[in-house]
Amino acid sequence: MGASTAFHLAEAGVNVTLLERDSLASGSTSKAAGGVRANFSDELNIALGLRSLEAFENFKVRPGQDIDLHQVGYLFILTKPEDVVLFEDSVKLQNSLGVQSRMLTPQEAQELSPLLNIDGVLAAAYSPRDGHCTPESVVLGYATGARKHGASIHTGIEVTGIVHDGSTISAVETSAGRIETSTVINCAGAWSPQIGAMVGLEIPVVPYRREILITEPIPDLPNNFPMTIDFSTSFYFHREGPGLLTGFSDQSVEAGFSLNRDDGFAEKLGELAMVRAPRVLDAGIRSGWAGLYEVTPDHNALL
Ligand SMILES: Cc1cc2nc3c(=O)[nH]c(=O)nc-3n(C[C@H](O)[C@H](O)[C@H](O)COP(=O)(O)OP(=O)(O)OC[C@H]3O[C@@H](n4cnc5c(N)ncnc54)[C@H](O)[C@@H]3O)c2cc1C
Repeated sequence: MGASTAFHLAEAGVNVTLLERDSLASGSTSKAAGGVRANFSDELNIALGLRSLEAFENFKVRPGQDIDLHQVGYLFILTKPEDVVLFEDSVKLQNSLGVQSRMLTPQEAQELSPLLNIDGVLAAAYSPRDGHCTPESVVLGYATGARKHGASIHTGIEVTGIVHDGSTISAVETSAGRIETSTVINCAGAWSPQIGAMVGLEIPVVPYRREILITEPIPDLPNNFPMTIDFSTSFYFHREGPGLLTGFSDQSVEAGFSLNRDDGFAEKLGELAMVRAPRVLDAGIRSGWAGLYEVTPDHNALL
């Protein structure tokens, strides 16, 4: 969010300074699975998703960076009748707003995503324009573009306070001194409540640890198949180089900033994979990591 905001403001002629206490993309962004989509269930998120897809499709030109965008689609696998109804309604809404999504039979879903086991699958929802890209490249592209438009970007500098009189901001205190400004944009993701607290704002964002595994190469893996998500369990995978990037949202994880990886994560993921994509179990684990999801009360973005 920080690099994107800096780019768009600098391009519009605003004098911008971006402060990052670590290195660019070091927060949640470099930990993401890279999924990009307009396959949502409400008008606002569909519109935001469409706008993002347009930006990602044009990224080589503006700001001018290859982000390894694979528009292989999103494929939601549905195993509960109520989820089928939910997605049928969402697909209708998406179609009315210009998203070319459609419902598929289990067999059609398996043709698109051959690792799938379709036992117990009732239907699937497919949105071909969605896909995945490399999050760090998006940050790099926006940061480089922002600099070209005159933005100052400082890494290794922490915001430690905001000077204000209750109604007007006059400066930001940092680990490298004070910067005079009347405007602050809080793009601190999971850490945004700390920045909000500097001006007495309570921002309802809670961090939850989520993990990802990268598998060893899988022989005969098709070149292109969708980001595939087993909706009822949240188990998902997409192609990453010669192997897979895979994960799920472990609902037993408690809120907190810990990035310690769970020793049992691979086993829990394996149980879900055994049901939905057993071939994943044949592949060894090459690497993995944990990152923080910044969760709001209604799971929508906060502006
Ligand atoms: C495992 C996992 C998978 C995910 N998969 C997807 C996906 O497929 N698709 C998707 O859309 N989203 C995904 N997400 C969510 C996505 O990663 C986040 O929503 C997104 O990266 C948030 O971006 P951000 O810029 O708001 O926050 P961040 O990328 O966390 O950036 C905030 C930055 O603020 C800096 N900061 C904090 N405090 C200060 C301070 N006091 N001073 C200076 N700097 C400070 C931090 O160092 C950090 O770099 C995933 C998340 C995880 C953890």
